[in-house]
Amino acid sequence: MLNLRKPQTVAAANGVATDSAFGAVTPPLYMSSTYAFAGFEKAGAYDYTRSANPSRDMLADTLAKLEGGAGAVVTSSGMAAIDLMLGLLGRDDLVVAPHDCYGGTYRLLAARRDRGHFKVEFVDQNDDAALSAALAKSPSLVLVETPSNPLMRIVDIKRIAGRAKAVGAKVAADNTFLSPALQRPILLGADFVIHSTTKYINGHSDVVGGAVIAASKADVEALAAWANVIGVTGSPFDAYLTLRGVRTLFPRIERQQSNAAAVAAFLEGHSLVAAVHYPGLKSHPGHELAKAQQAGFGAMLSFELAGGVENVRRFVEAVGIFTLAESLGGVESLVAHPTSMTHAGMSAEARRIAGISDSLLRLSVGLEAEADIVAGLESGLAAVAAGSRSQKAS
Ligand SMILES: *Cc1c(COP(=O)(O)O)cnc(C)c1O
Repeated sequence: MLNLRKPQTVAAANGVATDSAFGAVTPPLYMSSTYAFAGFEKAGAYDYTRSANPSRDMLADTLAKLEGGAGAVVTSSGMAAIDLMLGLLGRDDLVVAPHDCYGGTYRLLAARRDRGHFKVEFVDQNDDAALSAALAKSPSLVLVETPSNPLMRIVDIKRIAGRAKAVGAKVAADNTFLSPALQRPILLGADFVIHSTTKYINGHSDVVGGAVIAASKADVEALAAWANVIGVTGSPFDAYLTLRGVRTLFPRIERQQSNAAAVAAFLEGHSLVAAVHYPGLKSHPGHELAKAQQAGFGAMLSFELAGGVENVRRFVEAVGIFTLAESLGGVESLVAHPTSMTHAGMSAEARRIAGISDSLLRLSVGLEAEADIVAGLESGLAAVAAGSRSQKAS
């Protein structure tokens, strides 16, 4: 394969025109579950699709190049990717995870801890004392997730990786919210990058998938072997669709983040909005760090509506182009209410500690025209204003 250096070129063209059978420009989809031996005791490059598949390998190779890793394992979901990596740990190993990590990750870590599969400490990784105390216990793995969900908190990957390495821990970064187009954790010292490819990597809300990219060849081999043992590798068709999504990753995310910047600016100036959490805003506590660590601020943001849950209902029922749905990173704009949707599994007390209020809304900003996106928000906020007025009048 050509040695393609620029990430934009890797995304658009890795594996293009390499088909030796017919000269297909688009890498073909190999659906076969099994492969003919060349002869007795002569296995070919592939023998069975659970272990390896050419279409899945094409996606893995592309993701590994984009993240600057030695290789990747493509899994059936983002959760499968995280669990695959956790499968390398034993019962005496300690994982240090962010206290505000993705809800599914929190549930997985807690469930495996409770079954005695490994130990876990959840810490606020921006709290130096808390992080130091956790690192003093000699963890095997430090998991980071930046920006965080849904408050878009930023942590310093390079700094945490340096401190983790000093105590012999490996570092994994969940890069789902930005994608390698905007952040490359391996270049900042991470040993593993995790993706829910369901989100920006595929980008079209029609595949659930995941990947683990490892910096070292030995880790790639260990992950690939364990993925085969437990059978969590992704389907060839999903890999084919996901690679199709990767082709447009850069232009999608560039356009989506420019729409998101417009949304953040619009919301920040509005009287019915109490707070906006977007790392691109100067008012965001992680703004300077995001500017240094990321190649862009991304297309996810959250904001606090003034008033109570009644206003949230009025807003989401009138917000035009935004669909009320979980997930993120697709070409279409989505709005989610963390309290009743993505973070409903957390207790009210846990949400309060994490800073997730009942009036918080999360936006995944899509590829629609900026004017239509802002018009949708205007109509949502107009419904809030009208609702509060009629409430006062009655
Ligand atoms: C969605 C998501 C996951 C889980 O991925 P699935 O593909 O839904 O299994 C993990 N981490 C983050 C940050 C996510 O947004």
